[in-house]
Amino acid sequence: MGWPSSPDTEIEQLLAAELDRQQTGLQLIASENFASPAVMAATGTVLTNKYSEGYPKKRYYGGNAIVDDIEDLARDRVCALFGAEHANVQPHSGANANVAVYLAMLQAGDTVLGMSLDHGGHLTHGSPVNISGLFYNFVGYGLTPSDERIDYDAVRDLALEHRPKMIVAGATAYPRQIDPQIFRDIADEVGALFMFDAAHIAGLIAAGVHPNPVPVADIVTFTTHKTLRGPRGGTILCREEYAKAIDKAIFPGLQGGPLEHVIAAKAVAFREAADPTFADYGAAIVANAEALAEALAKQSFRLVSGGTDNHLLLVDLRPFDAELTGKVAQASLDAAGITLNKNTVPDDPRSPFVTSGVRIGTPAVTTQGMGTDEMPEIAELIAAVLSAPEDEAVQAEVAERTAALCARFPVYPGLIG
Ligand code: PLP
Repeated sequence: MGWPSSPDTEIEQLLAAELDRQQTGLQLIASENFASPAVMAATGTVLTNKYSEGYPKKRYYGGNAIVDDIEDLARDRVCALFGAEHANVQPHSGANANVAVYLAMLQAGDTVLGMSLDHGGHLTHGSPVNISGLFYNFVGYGLTPSDERIDYDAVRDLALEHRPKMIVAGATAYPRQIDPQIFRDIADEVGALFMFDAAHIAGLIAAGVHPNPVPVADIVTFTTHKTLRGPRGGTILCREEYAKAIDKAIFPGLQGGPLEHVIAAKAVAFREAADPTFADYGAAIVANAEALAEALAKQSFRLVSGGTDNHLLLVDLRPFDAELTGKVAQASLDAAGITLNKNTVPDDPRSPFVTSGVRIGTPAVTTQGMGTDEMPEIAELIAAVLSAPEDEAVQAEVAERTAALCARFPVYPGLIG
C-alpha cells in the first residue's frame, strides 16, 4: 500500500502562511533564528524512518552503520567546534539536555545553585513547576540591584552557605557575558560540579564573541536552534570522566530513539558554525544588539543593565509608559508584524504572564542581512507602536513599513512553504 496521492492542502497552506509571516515580519525573539536551507533539508530526509536506540556501534536495532557514521560525524564536529572531550548529540531539546545532566550527576533532593527565573534563569534551573525544582533543592542567585549584573559575590556566599552538589550557570534573559572562570573558582572552593547552560549563547561562543565555558566547566549543555542556527534540539558536552553517565542518562534514562534526521542537521549546523564566516556573523549579532540598545535608549526605553554585550536586550517598559505591560506590548507589536516576547525585568512587580518588560534579540535579523544601519529604524517602529499600543491604524501603518524593511532582506528566496 502506498501513501495517499492527494496533497495535504491544509498543511501546505499553513506552511505557506507561516513562511510568509516569518519573511514579512521582524523576528526579534532572542531564542529564534533562521536555519539554513541545508539544515532544513537534512531534517526532511529518510533518516526520519530509522530507529537507532543506543549509540554508534552499540545499537539495539540493525541497519545502523550509516546512522553511526552520521552521529559520529556530528559528535566529532561539535567536539572540534568547542574543544570538548565528549559530546552527546541526542537530546531532543535543551530542557532534556539539562534534565539528563541532573539525572546523571545528582540524587533526588541534592542542592544545586542556579540563576533565579525572575532574574533571567531558565525553568530548568530550579523553577518549582519544573522537574528540576520538583526533584532537586535549587537555591537561586540573581543580579546586583546596582548594575543588574550577576552578583558573583552573592553566588560565592550562597555556595559557602549551602554547599551545593552542583552550580549551574547560564540564562535565558541576561544581556551580558557570563564569566565561566568565576563560577569554576567558586565551584572548586566548595567542591561542587560546574554545569554551564549555553543554550542562548552557543553560537556566540562558536563565533568567538563570548568566553567558551568548555575548558573550565565539567558539563556544558546547549540548544542547537538559537544563536547556533541549527535545527531544534540539544547537545551535551562533558569531560570524558562523565561521558558514560551522561550517555546513560539520555538513553535509556530519559529518551527513546534518537532523531537521527535532526542529528544530521546538527552536524550540518556544526560545520556551518566552524566556517570562518560564522565569526563575522557572531560579531554582527552583537554589534546589532548594541546598536538597537542605543537606538531604543534614545526612544526613552530603559535597558536592564544599561545595554548589552550579547545577542539580546531586556527592555524595562515602565520609564517609557508606567501603565504599559509586556503583555500588551507583545500583542500590539505582533499586530504590527514585530515578533518578540514579554519578559519579566529583575524584581518585576507584575506576574510572568503580564510583566513589565520585553526581550529583544538580534540573531534572526542578523542572519537575514540587516546591520547596524537598520537598527534605528527597528527602534523607531517599536516606539511608534508602543506610543499608541491600542491604535490599530498605527499598527497597520507600522506593519506596512515592517514588511517593506523585511522585503529588502529576503530570507528564503524561492521557498514556497
Ligand atoms: N536553557 C536555556 C538557558 C534556555 O533559554 C532554554 C530555552 O529557551 C532551554 C534551556 C530549553 O531549551 P528547549 O526549549 O529546547 O527545551
